[in-house]
Amino acid sequence: MKIEVLQSSPHSPTRLQYLTSFLVDDVVSIDAGALGLMRTPAEQARVRDVLLTHSHADHTGLLPIFLENVIDERREPPTVHAHPFTLATLRQDMFNDRMWPNFVDLRIGEQRLVKLHVLEAEKPFVIAAGTLTCTPILVDHPVPTFGFLLDDGRDAVLFSGDTGPTTRLWEIARATPRLRAVFLELSFPDERSELARRVGHLTPKTFVEELAKLDRPELQVFAFHLKAKWHATIVDELTQRLAKGTTHRADRVAIAELGREYRFGG
Ligand SMILES: [Zn+2]
Ligand SMILES: [Zn+2]
Repeated sequence: MKIEVLQSSPHSPTRLQYLTSFLVDDVVSIDAGALGLMRTPAEQARVRDVLLTHSHADHTGLLPIFLENVIDERREPPTVHAHPFTLATLRQDMFNDRMWPNFVDLRIGEQRLVKLHVLEAEKPFVIAAGTLTCTPILVDHPVPTFGFLLDDGRDAVLFSGDTGPTTRLWEIARATPRLRAVFLELSFPDERSELARRVGHLTPKTFVEELAKLDRPELQVFAFHLKAKWHATIVDELTQRLAKGTTHRADRVAIAELGREYRFGG
């Protein structure tokens, strides 16, 4: 499995992540915060499945631009897979003929511009022309939010979505022996822990507590979603916590690098 955290700033290269989107095997996107800015329309058109973790703008913001970039009446449109709350929010607040034309119902000839797939927690489904199985897992955030487990039959990778301290995600991680890596959100510094608690995010302290729940000290873990304003502070705090010793191996925790291609398994 090949995974890239997409750049979200035109002033590249930057370590700062303003928007969230992961590209998986060139044909799947997890979230669409920056998807409409990715490379060329032809490369965007390879993306056939968009998995949305939740409705927040840093995860959905560039979805309208992406859908416009890939309009092609000669082929099936891409599918957006999401929680019913997320899909309802897109209809009411994005594709409402005010923020953007109603791409959900619009047709060009007979062809739709997007297909919607309503997800149920822990009901796996197949994407990427049958090569990947995705299992949505509810996590803890102020709006209904899914983490996603992607499994290609040999290797699996887990994406937390936006979440505060959570439980079910780790039960499923512990029950997945072929899990190779976890992308775990880390949003605020410990000095903003009250804010993080209120808006459902992790800080370095709660991040390492989540790793203890994972209970797989050797597993590769990548932190993502570091709020740009506090990026340096978060990195410092996490480095200090890992240096003091945690249940997880310090050399198996890294900040996900934007624009870098990570490969897991064959
Ligand atoms: Zn969020
Ligand atoms: Zn977010």
